[in-house]
Amino acid sequence: MNPIGKRSCYDEGKRCAETLFFDYHRENKVDIRVIRIFNTYGPRMHEADGRVVSNFIVQALRGQDITIYGDGSQTRSFCYVDDLIEGFVRFMAQTETVGPVNCGNPGEFTMLQLAELTLKLVGGKSKIVFKPLPSDDPKQRQPDITLARKVLGGWEPRVPLEEGLDRTIAYFRTRV
Ligand code: UDP
Repeated sequence: MNPIGKRSCYDEGKRCAETLFFDYHRENKVDIRVIRIFNTYGPRMHEADGRVVSNFIVQALRGQDITIYGDGSQTRSFCYVDDLIEGFVRFMAQTETVGPVNCGNPGEFTMLQLAELTLKLVGGKSKIVFKPLPSDDPKQRQPDITLARKVLGGWEPRVPLEEGLDRTIAYFRTRV
């Protein structure tokens, strides 16, 4: 862990939030749940928030170059927003487990695969270009959702990446 890097405020912020939640839970009996979210995407993302899914879709729709950072071999596991929210609702409705519970879609894709799939679904003439990899960019991210399956009554992500991307592209078509 790097506590002083460019991205560290984000990582440390999440760790700090979990620490405070559990302290309030222990000390003051605050009713808490802690979920760990993994790369969620879907309609209503902000077109300029810089996440990879929105960047690739907006670039493809505008006919701009698709910017892969690094060589595109790093992986992420993308969870469609409806699946995540279903997990939230089930988690809040139960009282046995406070967490942390991983909530995400274990399907793992490289950024090159994501770029190619986005191009296929959007169509158009964008080229894939490679840009420098930001520092502290994780090489791989895939949630182990064994606990979520158990605690959330058989919860399972249902929307495959291609379908979720299609819905997200339909949203962005109305915006860009
Ligand atoms: N990424 C990319 N091109 C972009 C935006 C992001 O290749 O235009 C890469 C980024 O370097 C990372 C991955 O896509 O390896 C996911 O980035 P994002 O910021 O969406 O999520 P996080 O890094 O927080 O998992």
